[in-house]
Amino acid sequence: MADNKTPSLMDKMASLCKRRGFIFPSSEIYGGIQGFWDYGPLGVELKNNIKKEWWKKMVYGREDVVGIDAAIIMNPQVWKASGHLEALVDPLVECKICHTRVRADNEEAIKAHENEHKDEKAQWTEAKSFNLMTEVYLGVTEPKQKAYLRGEITQGVFVNFENIVSSSRVAIPFGIAQIGKAFRNEITPGNFTFRSREFEQMELEYFVKPDEEKSRETFEYFKKLRMDWYVSLGIKSENLRFRDHADDERAHYARYATDIQYNSPFGWQEFEGIHHRGEYDLKNHKLSYQDKETGEKYIPWVIETSGGVDRATLFFLLDSYYGDDKRVVLKLDPKLAPYKVAIFPLLANKPELVEKAKEIYLRLKREFNTVFDDRGNIGKRYFAQDEIGTPWCITVDFDTLKDGAVTVRDRDSAKQERVGIDKLNEWFQEKLKD
Ligand code: ATP
Repeated sequence: MADNKTPSLMDKMASLCKRRGFIFPSSEIYGGIQGFWDYGPLGVELKNNIKKEWWKKMVYGREDVVGIDAAIIMNPQVWKASGHLEALVDPLVECKICHTRVRADNEEAIKAHENEHKDEKAQWTEAKSFNLMTEVYLGVTEPKQKAYLRGEITQGVFVNFENIVSSSRVAIPFGIAQIGKAFRNEITPGNFTFRSREFEQMELEYFVKPDEEKSRETFEYFKKLRMDWYVSLGIKSENLRFRDHADDERAHYARYATDIQYNSPFGWQEFEGIHHRGEYDLKNHKLSYQDKETGEKYIPWVIETSGGVDRATLFFLLDSYYGDDKRVVLKLDPKLAPYKVAIFPLLANKPELVEKAKEIYLRLKREFNTVFDDRGNIGKRYFAQDEIGTPWCITVDFDTLKDGAVTVRDRDSAKQERVGIDKLNEWFQEKLKD
């Protein structure tokens, strides 16, 4: 019954997300604001779990990566050196269908793009002097200092390159990982959270010695590592693919690039970009590296993996959606699920059952995100937990009071198992093990 291709799946998902507290339109009571979203009690858990799994894989799981958390606002000269101010101020038109941006005065490129749209007519936005960078003004006296909200989190890594090399024991090859907010003045935000103006990125910048062949190997290695990560957390492999960037679509900093794409209800879309940035950034910031052992000095090359936390959240939700009008199950990987366990007393009007269930709830809650529910009947409670992806539901019944065991029901198989209360922590630890 898996069905993530029906045209209305996005509507169903947006409505589920709002109804159950995953994602809300930002400042909705004032009519919202285009391209901004708030994560509710379940959404923040899912998003945090995605970030946790990413950090586990990309930082804790390796010996050659350290993390940082750089400021969102930097000296504006950073953006001049990185090429972001210059590269993004031309008058552009954007195709409303596939978001391809073309210089408004480049008739040839406009025609070429229109020819690519064989079935559907290309639709262009008005030409705009288009700067993706969001301006902010700092200080209280005029003239205020103009600065920018970062358009990518990446530059925070490069400007700290020397600080990191001198303060930690990293040596090339090594990586710097970061997760954080980025802002882009997108002219056509849309497809729910897919294209937002405020979003989060999770990135690794991996520094290598300049070498055409070896850096290609590193690029291929990270492509596979990142693809495997999405599969290991449950995205169906048939819904994933690589797509190499053509020469004319690469970002200004990339020597070559590949996207990891997801087969979404609105077509194959980018999830994450793997970029060979070469020496572009370090050179522009006039930075280099000296080998601590040999004394050799050079400008390292950079292989980057740049994923979107919000896009990952959306695609994990879409890929896990199973259901029809009557029943919905989010088959999220248990590691990502907002709640790991739900606990129910069989009957809400039996204090001895409620008391026991509460006791187990409070104990498990210290280790696993757990929810207590005593509303309606058991069937309705299962239904409500399936819809938000809770992998296990525990029922405390009259036998529990005698034998000290509970019934654990598995979300995907609906199988029920009796487990001793004193064994529950171990049982869940085992299930959630890497
Ligand atoms: P697109 O072509 O969709 O605009 P991009 O190629 O500009 O994306 P990158 O600059 O490579 O994107 O950014 C890396 C990642 O950051 C993307 O793969 C995506 O997951 C995320 N991202 C970029 N722009 C947005 C956005 N407007 N909203 C949400 N996530 C975004």
